[in-house]
Amino acid sequence: MEWCVSVPKIELHAHLNGSIRDSTLLDLARALGDKGLIDFSQVEHVILKRLSPIYTHFCVLKLEFDYGYLNTDNRSLSEVFKLFDLIHIVTTDHSSITRITKEVVEDFASENVVYLELRTTPKKNDSLGMSKRSYVEAVLEGLRAVSSVDVAFIPNSEEPVNLSSTLLSDASDKCNGNTRKKIFVRLLLSIDRRETTEAAMETVMLALEMRRFGVVGIDLSGNPAVGEWITYLPALMFARQQGLYVTLHCGEVSNSKEIHNMLDFLPQRIGHACFFEEEHWRKLKSSNIPVEICLTSNIRTLSVPTIDAHHFVDLYNAKHPLVLCTDDSGVFSTSLSNEYKIAASTFGLGQKEMFELSKNSIEFIFADDVVKEVLRKTFDSAAKSLT
Ligand code: 5GP
Repeated sequence: MEWCVSVPKIELHAHLNGSIRDSTLLDLARALGDKGLIDFSQVEHVILKRLSPIYTHFCVLKLEFDYGYLNTDNRSLSEVFKLFDLIHIVTTDHSSITRITKEVVEDFASENVVYLELRTTPKKNDSLGMSKRSYVEAVLEGLRAVSSVDVAFIPNSEEPVNLSSTLLSDASDKCNGNTRKKIFVRLLLSIDRRETTEAAMETVMLALEMRRFGVVGIDLSGNPAVGEWITYLPALMFARQQGLYVTLHCGEVSNSKEIHNMLDFLPQRIGHACFFEEEHWRKLKSSNIPVEICLTSNIRTLSVPTIDAHHFVDLYNAKHPLVLCTDDSGVFSTSLSNEYKIAASTFGLGQKEMFELSKNSIEFIFADDVVKEVLRKTFDSAAKSLT
């Protein structure tokens, strides 16, 4: 097994619907095609990302989508958001959300992700009888449905000693001859930048209610060209007052004032930080806010000019807290192991440095000290078997 797969890893920035398998997206689209709700032949091209560039204009559930020229290798950020609108039409019913959740957790576990923070935007769709709450319940159902791996997602139910011993045994743990992997999963509920203050507040209230099922925080995401910081601020402040963790997509486009506002808010983490200027870097470094780094996503969305010029280098050399993440493993055809491999080969880091990078991520997770301690032990035990 390649070292980047076998090393234990922590994933802190993964969007549920962006992490969907291509095969599942095709299945779901085909089913809608069979019902006559979409023109599958046109949607298939977009999903397979094989034709380059293609022109897609189709009518889905009476909604017109004009995809223009969707460049299939490197999609600009705005094109990616059009793709998400398509994905949501294909995926957003309860059983699909349950299926996607199950598969995404199994996929991360299969590459030795031992702790996963999965984020998703609760969606309301009256025609499907879906409320934000029933959407999150469908996600929880997906966590319960995972069969290839043991999932620990209910806080405080994780009996420390037992869990520690099972996690420590990791891939070599044999039960009735079967090797069982273990993964911790925590959920973040995302506020979409298209939402109103009231809708954002509804998501925060839901997160508070769902805490006992492993919801630990709030993410602000969605098209960064849309919306104003001031719209989400009341909900984000309330979330923080109530003890939820907050992470923000920050600096995905050039918007100096918003970046300052976001850094002044002092979120527990930020994602991306691609369009930072000197003064933003100064503020970020002095506040020590950890950065979720998504290399492939940033390259594919043309948010950084080249991989060599990625701000990972500067942050790493400055010993600034950072964590490698996938963002949207399905949309960008990547995996966390692949992100580790890219970082190692591009920035000349050895396996020891990559192991340390992975282990350090424990300090930035939104889970309690018991989980952190178990994870530290997992890494220590892996260090012995990897050497
Ligand atoms: P979901 O929340 O539906 O599970 O995952 C897809 C959603 O995550 C997208 O519609 C978008 O709101 C958000 N998202 C995924 N990738 C990105 C990204 O790179 N940047 C931002 N700002 N939002 C993203």
